[in-house]
Amino acid sequence: MAAPKIIAIEEHFTSPELRKHLTLKDGPIQAKLDDFGAVRIKDMDDAGIDLQIVSENNPAAQNLDPETAVKMARLSNDYLHEKVRAHPTRFAGFATLPLPDPKAAADELERAVTKLGFVGAMIMGTTHGHFLDEKPYRPIFERAAKLDVPVYVHPSPIMKTVADAYFKDHPALTGSPLGFGLETLTHSFRLITSGLFDEYPTLKIVVGHLGEAAPYVLWRTEENIQKVLKMPKAFGDYYRQHFYLTTSGAFSDTALACATAEMGIERIMFSVDWPYISNSDGTKWLKKAPISESDRAAIFAGNATKLLKLK
Ligand code: MN
Repeated sequence: MAAPKIIAIEEHFTSPELRKHLTLKDGPIQAKLDDFGAVRIKDMDDAGIDLQIVSENNPAAQNLDPETAVKMARLSNDYLHEKVRAHPTRFAGFATLPLPDPKAAADELERAVTKLGFVGAMIMGTTHGHFLDEKPYRPIFERAAKLDVPVYVHPSPIMKTVADAYFKDHPALTGSPLGFGLETLTHSFRLITSGLFDEYPTLKIVVGHLGEAAPYVLWRTEENIQKVLKMPKAFGDYYRQHFYLTTSGAFSDTALACATAEMGIERIMFSVDWPYISNSDGTKWLKKAPISESDRAAIFAGNATKLLKLK
């Protein structure tokens, strides 16, 4: 079997049990999230995508009570495992974790990787208003480092207190136009200032949307944070050594140039954010982006193949 030439790594689905539990409404996006057959695969084929790394859609199993979250995450991962097994050359999985019970989440990550063959985990931002740098979540990162799999930190809606304070009169900015990015950028930088990467020096974090502006602000953050916080390494070094960025929903030549210059080409991976964003918009953009053919191949598949240890 030929190695995949185009891999998309932030692509979503909804598992039937979570769909029922969260009483999600029918609609065109939901129909795509529910599908693991003709609709999804045709859309991939039309855009030239060989392999999707699939993850449970926001809010996944995160904002449930601990017991329900454990049960739902397990059902979700078992369901995704079945779908991957049915199409092993087209899909691979990121685990859904029951964040409200961090010890169980670490165990579920290990089960998903060692028993189900998943290639990492995706975490949907904050959990009941808590950020991942808070100490109770350390067992998850400890396990991810031990298993040597990446954790993809995905946006979640910003907290209501922040939305009210910042965007009450500008609701259009609350979600993906600005709010989601602020949430994930904050999350990324908090992981660094919390000392997480001094504790787990091999830990790998993936962030979408070309880093949510991190590459652009990194110099200034590093320049100013050293005046107020002592850390063993420079702020930018933590980011460049521990983070991998994907192109999900950020198909901009100039943002790609900045991210590549700051991070190095080997840290950038293709993703779409299907079904919210069009597969063919993504592949059409990157196929024409002003970069070398070897860089294009690395972003489209080579870097993900290495990071996720795909065969
Ligand atoms: Mn997404």
